[in-house]
Amino acid sequence: MERCDALAAFTEEDGALTRRFATPALGRASDAVAEWMAAAGMTVRRDAAGNLIGRYEGGDDGAGTLMLGSHLDTVRDAGRYDGALGVLVAIGAVERLAARDQRLPFALEVYAFSDEEGTRFGTAYLGSAAVAGRFEEAWLSRRDGEGTSMADALREYGCDPDALSGARRDGADLLGYVEVHIEQGPVLEEADRPVGVVEAIAGQTRFDVELRGRAGHAGTVPMESRHDALSAAAELVLAVEEAARSRPGLVATVGELTVRPGAANVIPGTARLSVDVRHGDDDARADAVAWLRGAADRIAARRGVELVTEPRFEHGAVPCAPELIEALERAVSSSGIEPLRLVSGAGHDAVQLASLASVGMLFVRCAGGVSHDPAESVAQEDVAVALEVLGELLESLADRDREVVRP
Ligand SMILES: [Zn+2]
Repeated sequence: MERCDALAAFTEEDGALTRRFATPALGRASDAVAEWMAAAGMTVRRDAAGNLIGRYEGGDDGAGTLMLGSHLDTVRDAGRYDGALGVLVAIGAVERLAARDQRLPFALEVYAFSDEEGTRFGTAYLGSAAVAGRFEEAWLSRRDGEGTSMADALREYGCDPDALSGARRDGADLLGYVEVHIEQGPVLEEADRPVGVVEAIAGQTRFDVELRGRAGHAGTVPMESRHDALSAAAELVLAVEEAARSRPGLVATVGELTVRPGAANVIPGTARLSVDVRHGDDDARADAVAWLRGAADRIAARRGVELVTEPRFEHGAVPCAPELIEALERAVSSSGIEPLRLVSGAGHDAVQLASLASVGMLFVRCAGGVSHDPAESVAQEDVAVALEVLGELLESLADRDREVVRP
């Protein structure tokens, strides 16, 4: 908890925690974490994407490597636990092993990813994408708000953008990737559980809708002659809410709405809105999106407005590995807590790493479900549980490993 506080001091702005990809603030945070890794007996290196990696050797060279970790970057005016807590709990688990002079059969690698939030360049998962070998060359020419290209930002950070392919981690020896993260939602708090086991990271569909009606004088055009784009959009917003409320596990949001011309005495001519749909099951999400498209067509036709939809992005759900879900649940049970499974509606580095290894995630309760906000808070007792569960998981994977007879 003290380390979370210490990292919160590494920020780009006075009075707020903002630590974006490849900034000096991230570099200072990364230096502090590197010291803690080294003190826990890890060898420490940085890769070409600015990720920090600590490795704690195992006792058996052939037993492979388990990856742990999370991210060190933040959103603007962030809380101090999103990302950082997962890195620090992983280091804490290694510290406990080192204090007992204990080696697991397999090695542990703790990754502190350089970018998950995508705050600086409008792309998420830069760090973990590079590790998974999914970094796209074209991203290097993206510019931040100050006009600095990603390639230049990496150089200023001491990384070689031409060597990014070297950040790719070979998955052949990996036993899995396990991430501890704050829940960023209220489910654990409502269920009165300190931690929960993630079964999947929800898939997402995001698209824009433009409704084109007819602008006109607010005083002279009779109601029956109107093609009010905003009234059509209002119906669609409620349809989005209805689609989600009537389908278990679905969340759907209209977060952006712009109206033109946008004057008190003019009938809205066009309305543009964003639709974000998420579910842990891809078929359920596809079904909801199809229903929403149909609803939008019907609303537009009835009101005589033109409908144009434009996809923004889509990614499938990422299921956590059943063997890691079960192992985490056993670890939760042995800590005296009844396990609870939940779907993560937020994206995480595990989305990228799932292409490389089996992934598992443990969520930690956060007060009021508040995240991406300075008010983000976790209880020390809950962090203690997370640390204990991670320790139990490592022991159980080690026991399983010792039973395997190697040639
Ligand atoms: Zn995060």
